[in-house]
Amino acid sequence: MIKNAEVRDCETKPPAHFTEASLLAVMENIDRRIDDKELKSYVKERGLGTPTTRAQIIEGLSSANYIERRKKFLYITEFGRKFIGKLPENIKSAEITAHWEQMLSDIESGKSKEEDFMNEIIKNVSEVIENEDIAVENAAAEQPAEIGKCPWCGSPIREGKKAFYCSNSEDCDFFIYKHDKRIGRDYTPEEISELLATGKVTLRNCISSRGNKYAAVFKLDDSGEYVNLKFVEYAKTRNSKSKEE
Ligand SMILES: [Zn+2]
Repeated sequence: MIKNAEVRDCETKPPAHFTEASLLAVMENIDRRIDDKELKSYVKERGLGTPTTRAQIIEGLSSANYIERRKKFLYITEFGRKFIGKLPENIKSAEITAHWEQMLSDIESGKSKEEDFMNEIIKNVSEVIENEDIAVENAAAEQPAEIGKCPWCGSPIREGKKAFYCSNSEDCDFFIYKHDKRIGRDYTPEEISELLATGKVTLRNCISSRGNKYAAVFKLDDSGEYVNLKFVEYAKTRNSKSKEE
């Protein structure tokens, strides 16, 4: 049974930014961040890299703009954040680096052969590429279906949340807003598909600002800079001519 409860305001503190010294210390004591027992004991005395290469790694990260120094602290840059986000988990782990270092040291002492190391690297890289291919395929499968071709650049037009847009977003700004006040609703993908294919479309179930139902033919009005649907004429409905009053 709960006898009493109270709500308390607490704050969690984000981890402090690394300084060069604290980052060097992490690299030196990398075994604390490794779970694998064998690797842990291997790197325990050595750390990652040597004292010289450790400092060079930080220097390299900074000159390649992955990190930047602000006073004595090291901050990840926007570029660095994006880069690390795109890298597959298994090649950015401390474990894999420790494992490779162990293999290199085994070659040095004659316990292991250079080919074994290279074969493993090749196998590893192939796996990463294969997984990336699957990720790219999955991303492609998640993309909304193509509803037509872009009149400006020929790339697929897709349905977004608020607009139909050209998928070649780096070079092309073509888009059509979904919602149209004049018809009191959004365009459907089928309507935009027809518009892109033929240059015009009959929109049915439109509601004017005065509340009148109508159907009308619209054509693609393309100034080369912006795109609109231009009213052409009221369309005949099955029962009668329906006009906006
Ligand atoms: Zn385009």
